[in-house]
Amino acid sequence: MDGGKGAVSEARLKSERQYREEICRFGKMLHERGFVAATDGNLSVRLGDGNILVTPTGMCKSMMEADDMAVVDQNGRQISGRRGVTSEIGMHLLIYQIRPDIHAVVHAHPPTATGFAACGQPLDQPLVSEIVVALGCVPLAKYATPGTPELAEALEPLVGDYDAILMANHGVVAYAEELEKAYMKMETVEHFAKISVVCQTLGTPQLLNDAEVSKLLLARQKYAGVTSTAAMSPQKNGHRNGNSVPTRPLRSFRDAFRESKRLIYSALALFLASARLITHRR
Ligand SMILES: [Zn+2]
Repeated sequence: MDGGKGAVSEARLKSERQYREEICRFGKMLHERGFVAATDGNLSVRLGDGNILVTPTGMCKSMMEADDMAVVDQNGRQISGRRGVTSEIGMHLLIYQIRPDIHAVVHAHPPTATGFAACGQPLDQPLVSEIVVALGCVPLAKYATPGTPELAEALEPLVGDYDAILMANHGVVAYAEELEKAYMKMETVEHFAKISVVCQTLGTPQLLNDAEVSKLLLARQKYAGVTSTAAMSPQKNGHRNGNSVPTRPLRSFRDAFRESKRLIYSALALFLASARLITHRR
């Protein structure tokens, strides 16, 4: 784990040109790692003057060039750029508005984490110590149509307390004081989702207890890369059912096997009963 307090002040000194190049670099990484497909996703950086440098609409994130970016003011009005601004700009503006400490936002659809979002399941179990410290709980925001003010409304209650959010039936948004860290959080969310799937598949996740989580949260305060207060204990956050669809635990293979066995036995019993009935009638 490496925080690096110096990174923030160094990041603030970057020129707009450097930010444009950084957006291209991390956009490419999102695409190469399969976190976005086609023209999905968007990235932004809050500039020193308060304006937002953001990816254009309708472009593959691995094919962008520095001059493709758009600049909008704090109300989302486009100031410059040869291409139109992403339709998801409202989500970025909301995060910058609520979190003055945040200077970069990354939105993507990484498949495993998005699968959790599509199943109405937050990533809120204390499974891995490093994730508790680096990220904390990743809550689930209720579903809203992408690109509409309703999406910002769904995110609003969660932005202050978390550094990454699952958006029901949509994807993930992660944010930090600089772009590299926002991107890293996106990677950690997807990694967390993959580990959660393995744990649920094996069927016996051993969760860290409250005392262990508390110690890790103390460690987090010393870790410069984490600015939110995102808790980890599932009992202590009220966002488990962010989606209106009720959540249900992932079934392990063992459960699935047991269930299919039960169905086969029921079908067999039904078949035998009908056969008996037919024979009896004859
Ligand atoms: Zn999206």
